Amino acid sequence: ELHNTILELKGNIRVFCRVRPLLPDEACSTEGKVISYPTSMEASGRGIELTQSGQKHSFTFDKVFAPDALQEEVFIEISQLVQSALDGYKVCIFAYGQTGSGKTYTMMGRPGHPEEKGLIPRSLEQIFQAKQSQKPQGWKYEMQVSMLEIYNETIRDLLSTNKSSSDGTPTRVENGTPGKQYSIKHDANGNTHVSDLTVVDVQSVKEVAFLLSQAANSRSVGKTQMNEQSSRSHFVFTLRIYGVNESTDQQVQGILNLIDLAGSERLSRSGSTGDRLKETQAINKSLSSLSDVIFSLAKKEDHIPFRNSKLTYLLQPCLGGDSKTLMFVNISPDQASAGESLCSLRFASRVN
Ligand code: ADP
Ligand code: MG
Repeated sequence: ELHNTILELKGNIRVFCRVRPLLPDEACSTEGKVISYPTSMEASGRGIELTQSGQKHSFTFDKVFAPDALQEEVFIEISQLVQSALDGYKVCIFAYGQTGSGKTYTMMGRPGHPEEKGLIPRSLEQIFQAKQSQKPQGWKYEMQVSMLEIYNETIRDLLSTNKSSSDGTPTRVENGTPGKQYSIKHDANGNTHVSDLTVVDVQSVKEVAFLLSQAANSRSVGKTQMNEQSSRSHFVFTLRIYGVNESTDQQVQGILNLIDLAGSERLSRSGSTGDRLKETQAINKSLSSLSDVIFSLAKKEDHIPFRNSKLTYLLQPCLGGDSKTLMFVNISPDQASAGESLCSLRFASRVN
């Protein structure tokens, strides 16, 4: 049976697929190529084929990045969206895929390899460069950053400086019990307020880089305590941009959200109990809610089910209206991942 799916998403929603290279410890498949992707000669390709158990499944996206695509080439394709945020649009860029498929590589890059920095640092460079270069035209920009994690449908502030209690024990979500209830409110102007969330004024890429490392530390504390929590939670990086033109009095308010989603792998229900089961259910719920919202928006349905998960409710103003959304579907190319890769491709093209 041949699956031939053409994605016909209209409006401001795009889906890009990125296949990462085989890692050194992933043996080449003896059964031949698992995934066909455009060669570097066909870098503008939109198609991807996956063969599993002799069946060929074909998918089409707005763009497919082959394993040899450089971070810089990927960034070129999103820099227009970054400009949109500077122009006053609300923008969301998601990375979706199983753990190990390259979501964090796409968003953040490889630590210690500046030439492989990801979309977040590159976007920040573009934005702070624009802040400098548009001064002569009278534009003055102010930027604010927040970083949070959604774990088990609970928000955790990653920039809270008050992370530790006096005995040094981190005050964070333990065993799924919220340490603090962050409530989400949207005002009439489409601005989102998360109660008690740390929002930091930032002047330079360097300052944001420092905050990113602080957030990463905050996540990794959870990691050892909480069973690889970082792959079981959504990371939401939000940059608010306030622009005023001092000669024309023109004002813009843009938002750039970059979201490294929880791993999409199906954990076997039978194998998971207790906290693990709760985690799995929370991840399944929020990823399927995200898919429901994005595809309801694409189909311009009347009712968009934003309220079905924390993630979609948080991002509501940045997903509807004239906002712009891009979803990266990250794919592992190895034989062992073929099943999950097929699930990811189907998720993204809404076949399942
Ligand atoms: P995820 O965040 O989806 O769990 P990672 O981004 O951590 O996955 O990627 C898993 C591993 O693969 C990391 O060692 C990462 O450096 C590497 N990797 C991912 N994508 C690429 C890529 N495009 N080029 C080179 N290495 C990559
Ligand atoms: Mg990751």
